[in-house]
Amino acid sequence: MSLFTAVEMAPRDPILGLNEQFAADTNPNKVNLGVGVYFDDNGKLPLLQCVQAAEKAMMDKPTARGYLPIDGIAAYDAAVKGLVFGADSDVVKSGRVATVQAIGGTGGLKIGADFLKKISPNATVLISDPSWENHRALFTNAGFPVDTYPYFDQSANGGLGGINFDGMLAKLNAAAEGTIVLLHACCHNPTGYDITPAQWDQVIAAVKARNLTAFLDMAYQGFGYGIAEDGAVIAKFVAAGLNIFVSTSFSKSFSLYGERVGALSVVGSSKEETDRVLSQLKIAIRTNYSNPPTHGGAIVAAVLGNPELRALWEKELGEMRVRIKAMRQKLVDGLKAAGVSKDMSFITTQIGMFSYSGLSKDQMVRLRSEFGVYGTDTGRMCVAALNSKNIDYVCQAIAKVV
Ligand code: PLP
Repeated sequence: MSLFTAVEMAPRDPILGLNEQFAADTNPNKVNLGVGVYFDDNGKLPLLQCVQAAEKAMMDKPTARGYLPIDGIAAYDAAVKGLVFGADSDVVKSGRVATVQAIGGTGGLKIGADFLKKISPNATVLISDPSWENHRALFTNAGFPVDTYPYFDQSANGGLGGINFDGMLAKLNAAAEGTIVLLHACCHNPTGYDITPAQWDQVIAAVKARNLTAFLDMAYQGFGYGIAEDGAVIAKFVAAGLNIFVSTSFSKSFSLYGERVGALSVVGSSKEETDRVLSQLKIAIRTNYSNPPTHGGAIVAAVLGNPELRALWEKELGEMRVRIKAMRQKLVDGLKAAGVSKDMSFITTQIGMFSYSGLSKDQMVRLRSEFGVYGTDTGRMCVAALNSKNIDYVCQAIAKVV
């Protein structure tokens, strides 16, 4: 009898499973639209020039690697505040934002969840239906019951799919006081559908009226309409006087997936209160992994802190955003040209890296087995993995299964 006799095999991560299947597929035309990663037009993971320049400067002046402060590199935290809230915003200037460097956006969510468990131990967490797979698992593991609010409805827009905003709002308005609501700040994963600014106002009104806690997950800032444009939703929450949580990820926007660069920001009501919050966030970090790693944070701090590199980053991020939008248009046009009679133009109204295509599980399975085109069973495709070489093949394949 071993200590581990009763240990069950955990289910495989669905996306990881797809990746393994993709790697083993011998189809020479195979296309991986499963994983949420941006690839350039050559199908390559980009190494941004701004990142290379920052790394070169770091290598020219090598430094020893001491421990970072528990909350990370001060210049990094300040740069995140600037991106998310605006460096000159009242909320930042008055010391009401506590920002800590975190291990990716996931780390930011986890530190926030651990802190919330201490201050709101009996709260329920509401996530969108559907949401990023890890939201449920992460908050469940942090000890919260997790429920959903309606979000995507395939029957909306005459069956083309869309947001069930009335359902979402009704759920928020019926939520118990203190409920934690996880919201995608922009570029909703997995659907690609964001609510409008006017709908955000209604969400904010519900959060305020019901005394809910908003936790905004911002994993794609800059992939929607621009850095400031995507950040505008945060300013709306701040203007409403709400105490909010914001997780930030630079995995996609800096193409630094493996460096695990992210952050958590919490907005307090006064500087004194925010200082107390920060002290508790540090405890959460200390007891999880003590302090964050240096390299990725140093790169991002160097880029954001240098006007030339920052301009270069904004240009490169803009190019990624524009390329994705061009691929959406090409997909719509290509599907039409390939003979798909259904109006697929909704793909260009979606935003960010993903598209809920409306394809059924059977159709997704056929795409995979007959054509080597990999998306998730839910019909999610990563449009950021389309390029000028694979787009025609993907359109032809989809046309054959719908
Ligand atoms: N939140 C959402 C909505 C995501 O899509 C992702 C990554 O795919 C994350 C958080 C996690 O980001 P990171 O890889 O920086 O941990």
